[in-house]
Amino acid sequence: MRKKIWIALSLLLAVCACTLGGIKLYRMHKAAQCGLLLAFDDYNGPNWEEYFDLFDQYDAKVTFFINAYEPVDFCFRAIDRGHEIAYHTAGHANLTECSQEEIYTQAIAPMEAFRQQGIELTTFAYPYGAYTSDLNDLLLQHYKVLRGAFSYQIVGKDKMLHGVVDSLSLDNINYPSDEAFEERVDAIVGELSQNKGAVVGVYSHAIGDGNWCISEKRLEYLLKKAREAGIQFYTYQELQEEW
Ligand SMILES: [Zn+2]
Repeated sequence: MRKKIWIALSLLLAVCACTLGGIKLYRMHKAAQCGLLLAFDDYNGPNWEEYFDLFDQYDAKVTFFINAYEPVDFCFRAIDRGHEIAYHTAGHANLTECSQEEIYTQAIAPMEAFRQQGIELTTFAYPYGAYTSDLNDLLLQHYKVLRGAFSYQIVGKDKMLHGVVDSLSLDNINYPSDEAFEERVDAIVGELSQNKGAVVGVYSHAIGDGNWCISEKRLEYLLKKAREAGIQFYTYQELQEEW
């Protein structure tokens, strides 16, 4: 009888050890996973929504940095599909040219209108990529992460918990040809693949052939290349929590 109890206890211990080991391995794997933070700025809800199925197809979560005083229906549908609603001021204001009162009206006060409707805004992108260290100090009291718009920056996921990060434009105007765009994507994917736990922020405004859009072909190239390389698409918000 006693022998049976010991065998049962040993088995239980072995199961616990395997489970804990498994959890640890899973956590290590998650921490080492590299990713892309794909974002769209301003407000092009109907256009963005046309591509929800495409995003799903590549398991791509997207962050939409919107201009609005309060949530619009698009916000709820995007959140339902696993995307993030982030903020970009109420009226696309250049905050470096605003008074303190205007900064409050444009970037801080609307957070409450979103909160009241169940949307917690935790990520903010500066319109025109324009900011100062004073603005960073102020806005970091309200948001977890502030995003710029001018450069390629590869960072460890830990930098995404709280602070200021830059982001690379994918707008058509910045790449004279599809080949130039594809070369850039290949370089980003290559660098990410060699940096455990690293992430890169990229953004555009809409999907299409305009200057400040990313073409459908280029977007699919990015989604496909990232997936082939095992790169995950994160929202900013999910990296502000435990990962
Ligand atoms: Zn903008």
